[in-house]
Amino acid sequence: MELEPFVFHHPGALIGLRRHPAAEGDETLGAVNRFALRPLTAGEFAVFEMDLCHNQVDRHFSRFPDEELEKIDRMTPGRPLMERHDLRGSLPRGTFFRSRIHRDGDRVSVRPEVYVLRTGDNRDFILNIEGGVYRETSIGFSFRVPECSVCGRDLRACDHVPGRSYGDNPCHFIMRDVVEVIEGSVVPAGSQGTGFVPRGAAVNAARALEWARERFHEPIELTTTVRRPWADE
Ligand SMILES: [Zn+2]
Repeated sequence: MELEPFVFHHPGALIGLRRHPAAEGDETLGAVNRFALRPLTAGEFAVFEMDLCHNQVDRHFSRFPDEELEKIDRMTPGRPLMERHDLRGSLPRGTFFRSRIHRDGDRVSVRPEVYVLRTGDNRDFILNIEGGVYRETSIGFSFRVPECSVCGRDLRACDHVPGRSYGDNPCHFIMRDVVEVIEGSVVPAGSQGTGFVPRGAAVNAARALEWARERFHEPIELTTTVRRPWADE
């Protein structure tokens, strides 16, 4: 019997924006235009980068293994950017057009970029992202197998409880066999139950500086923090 895949939402963070796609040369423009029906010019859209999901145990006691992140990285371009996972009541705000795997020590994450057209209707949406008000994101996806970290079996077939410790071994589940990336969403601030600024803010500020240096000439940082829920726990 084939079980229905799980549909999950997983929190991420909006980490940067590039105000002038043209400043990066034709690469970004070309990547965006793969999805447009007529060639867009750089001034017609805004580009945002997200830290969408990662390989660390989150507060739901789940994590993605690296190979599933690579799959998500491949699946995300072409998917829509929504608000609050609302696939019924609203149309997309943007389209993910490019994605990459980002490594920071042991932390591996998927960092897709999304473009949002500078239409009148999107004006406030873009301003709220640029102004750092909309900064939390979440991925909607489905997967088939929640693997228990304690015994390696399907969590539905064992008695271990995620979040509980067995000896020195805290149980979580590993999300395997991702079926689909449905969408990425901007979600209301604080909706995931943690604050905006993690305790490691100083470290993140240093990282932000590093990024800024790496991308000299690009006015990128709209928020200098990557929300790291596990840092607060
Ligand atoms: Zn188990």
